[in-house]
Amino acid sequence: MKILVINCGSSSLKYQLYNMDEKTGVVLAKGLVERIGMEGSNLQHTPEGKDKFVFEQPLADHSEAIKLVMDKLIDPECGVISDLSQINGVGHRIVHGGKYFSDSCIVTEEVKDAIKKCFDLAPLHNPANLMGIEACEKLMPGVPQITVFDTAFHHSMPQKAFMYALPYEYYEKDDIRKYGFHGTSHKYVSMRAIDMLGGKKESKIITCHLGNGSSVAAVKDGKGIDTSMGLTPLEGLFMGTRCGDIDLAVVFYLMKKEKLPAHAIDQIMNKESGVYGISGVSSDFRDIETAANEGNERAKLALDMFHYKVAKYIGEYFIALGGADAIVFTAGLGENSKTSRAAICEQLKCLGVEIDEEKNSKRGEEIDISSPNSKIRVFVIPTNEELMIAQDTKELLDK
Ligand code: AMP
Repeated sequence: MKILVINCGSSSLKYQLYNMDEKTGVVLAKGLVERIGMEGSNLQHTPEGKDKFVFEQPLADHSEAIKLVMDKLIDPECGVISDLSQINGVGHRIVHGGKYFSDSCIVTEEVKDAIKKCFDLAPLHNPANLMGIEACEKLMPGVPQITVFDTAFHHSMPQKAFMYALPYEYYEKDDIRKYGFHGTSHKYVSMRAIDMLGGKKESKIITCHLGNGSSVAAVKDGKGIDTSMGLTPLEGLFMGTRCGDIDLAVVFYLMKKEKLPAHAIDQIMNKESGVYGISGVSSDFRDIETAANEGNERAKLALDMFHYKVAKYIGEYFIALGGADAIVFTAGLGENSKTSRAAICEQLKCLGVEIDEEKNSKRGEEIDISSPNSKIRVFVIPTNEELMIAQDTKELLDK
């Protein structure tokens, strides 16, 4: 079974074509279209086992971008299939499923309407995601389209976890509540962690997705019961450029003190804050680590604050879960930075967490980095959201 996974951004499109005859999937080709609808649009297409092909040509919209991708998938030189009819289904990443979706589903008109209803909650992402679906429907009539939502995994949160203590009417009227994001990643790594725990039926896992965007989730028996991101991806941990949890009164104070309009504060909190805002160096953790090692005090502070915050969330979810079998580190920083993992775990000693320095130095593989005495297992698990989308798509097609 061949499955195409599509992730549409506002001016970009990422894709992977999988052969899903085996559960672990085999990537046949992957690529990226950039600058859709802008000058300089291009496709970077990499068939498995070959070098990257780059095609530069004007692409007015997502439909043209997907058409180009399809042409290259069947191209005699850089293609990997002989005919588009070999694609059995398309899995689309959708950022916000709001209150409507607790699982992946096959696209219908109702599904598309519900995605539209979430436009206000994810104005940069959901319209682009929907464009991807509609373009595929047009180009591949009859091929099932499947949607996989970033928010769906967290739908199992109990109401006490997802409510904000605002007047109840805003929850009822405007759907204001915590939804959570990175759900596909939290689901994938928690499933892998359950396997690494020997397939334990009852499990308590804390998953830390630490990258440019970062979130922590509490996962009980395979289901999300709490997570750090909220109505939007701004809440929770601070990140590359997002401020995460702050006293909300700061917004009104800044408006008054600096005479800033609401959109300027939105820009500050989403694009100018986080480790970038604190360090003044970069939003990229590698640059900040380098600067901290060279003695930059603000870079050191940004890292100290970040490690402290992650450790505090882990403590919070330890309580929410009533203990923990495993803590998982994933995404760019979680998978690659041994110093960040060590600094976070150092603060978890009071929970009986101990890691093995040598194992913590390994990279790019699924590994248990805890020492034999550790009361909680600590795993590094490279995330694979595309594979998770392909697996969900296959599961729905099999049904
Ligand atoms: P992601 O959003 O998951 O792609 O993660 C991107 C973030 O991971 C960036 O801030 C990178 O600096 C960080 N990252 C990637 N590799 C490393 C590394 N070897 N050490 C520290 N941070 C890293």
